[in-house]
Amino acid sequence: MTERVDVIVIGAGIGGLTTAALLQERGFSTIVFEKNRFPGGSCSAFTNGGYTFDAGASVFYGFNHDDSKGTLNLHTRIFRKLGIELRTIPDPVQIHYHMPNSFEVPVHYDRFRFLECLYQRFPHEKAGIRRFYDELEAVYDILSSLPAGSLEDPMHIAAVGAQHPLKSMSLGVKTLFSMGGTARKYIHDEELLRFIDLESYSWAVQDALGTPLVNAGICLADRHHGGINYPVGGSGVIPAALVKGIEKFGGEVRLGTAVDEVIIDNGRAVGVRLKGGQEVHASAVVSNATVWDTFSRLVTDSRFQVPEGRFVKAPSWFQVYLGVDGRVIPQGFNVHHILVEEWDRYDELGGTIYFSAPTILDPTLAPSGKHTLHLFVTDETWQWERFEPKSQEYRKAKEDYARSLIARTERLLPGLSGAVELMVTATPQTHERYLGRLDGSYGPMLHPGQNVLFKPQNRTPVKNLFMTGDSTFPGQGVIAVTYSGVSCASYIARQLGRPLEYL
Ligand SMILES: Cc1cc2nc3c(=O)[nH]c(=O)nc-3n(C[C@H](O)[C@H](O)[C@H](O)COP(=O)(O)OP(=O)(O)OC[C@H]3O[C@@H](n4cnc5c(N)ncnc54)[C@H](O)[C@@H]3O)c2cc1C
Repeated sequence: MTERVDVIVIGAGIGGLTTAALLQERGFSTIVFEKNRFPGGSCSAFTNGGYTFDAGASVFYGFNHDDSKGTLNLHTRIFRKLGIELRTIPDPVQIHYHMPNSFEVPVHYDRFRFLECLYQRFPHEKAGIRRFYDELEAVYDILSSLPAGSLEDPMHIAAVGAQHPLKSMSLGVKTLFSMGGTARKYIHDEELLRFIDLESYSWAVQDALGTPLVNAGICLADRHHGGINYPVGGSGVIPAALVKGIEKFGGEVRLGTAVDEVIIDNGRAVGVRLKGGQEVHASAVVSNATVWDTFSRLVTDSRFQVPEGRFVKAPSWFQVYLGVDGRVIPQGFNVHHILVEEWDRYDELGGTIYFSAPTILDPTLAPSGKHTLHLFVTDETWQWERFEPKSQEYRKAKEDYARSLIARTERLLPGLSGAVELMVTATPQTHERYLGRLDGSYGPMLHPGQNVLFKPQNRTPVKNLFMTGDSTFPGQGVIAVTYSGVSCASYIARQLGRPLEYL
């Protein structure tokens, strides 16, 4: 007999798991198929040699417990609804930036302390700095007072519009602006504008002119309100807690189970075919794969293929995971860092080094006296195509490149090369293989200047087939895909006749 549920979710990334958890809690039977033997996708963890590493994400928004600070604490609200406890540790500095000409900025939780660093370096821009970051606060004030829901759901739009008419209108206007365009209205100093580009690049992998003001209003403002909080046990506890929530309400997450195809009948998605041929049917199918993978691998009808050039394809990553002698990390060292040695190269492949040492916050992730370090730079699959996978040459090229990144990082951590006790590397090919993402890309981005509302929402051209995750509004980042999951679940729940309550 063919299995049948209300909702099938393809992929146990944070977008997929959030969608499934909220629908299952509302009483819809849900099953998540994940090709990997672990959940979480880009927000998962792995262990090696006694160390626990964050595979991707480690800067987390949305965990603030104080609801009076607004509605953006989506993780807290979701886990409360699911009745699942997840403990976090506040991180006092979101990112410590290290730039050319001894320009350094630790982004403190305390907004005034952060701004003071900028005022000290750019006293002539003090008024402009205040006005630019106040613009971000204004966006944040609006967004944090609105409930999360689907922008495709007329009932949600009507409810929000009726309760918050001025804020809704003002937000609509703000979608017309970019972060960089707004900065350039108030700020003229080239070095400062470069820092603002780097602030945008840090999560959007685009300069500020290509980044919508609305997205910046979350990432660059909520860090001073809800703050950045690291989950005790590492990033993998977030997907694990969502899986627990799904199972608690009777749903299922089937790991190690790849979906081969979305079954379409008369223009409607009616189920999926698993690798191996088994079919499972549902009233709604949700894809957590990227828009390219959904409409080339899962839906093969060429009419739905994503036209080339519709989105900018973000690069992938070369990643290095290190277990190090703890003595290399100085007292008071911050957890997350971004290092730019030359402004002219910051947005080239490998030009900016991101690195983190989460064991500063949670020492249980490494053996006693040791730390984990996660270094990564942008990269592309074509850089590694000339190597035979698993060949000696490929291994050596990875090791050499990793060593060169470690040597560059020595600028901040002298002696790092000699302190390495364990090293794991991952190329864009690794990223593509694990996550099933086209070219291991960080995902589709809008073209510079495009309105943020051009980002696809959750509905797709195929009836009853929905998308969740970073291919959809609002975009990349764990809190963003959580929003996408909330929005997707809200839309489907209303479609199926049992709307969700606001979180
Ligand atoms: C190196 C790196 C660092 C990052 N740092 C941060 C950070 O510090 N803070 C932050 O907020 N964000 C960060 N991000 C971004 C963030 O991790 C992602 O935007 C987010 O986790 C993406 O979630 P998702 O649900 O869209 O999809 P994914 O994480 O890509 O998950 C999709 C899942 O679907 C599965 N899947 C795909 N196809 C199939 C199929 N056919 N059958 C079954 N399963 C399938 C995949 O295996 C995968 O598990 C980082 C990302 C990377 C790569």
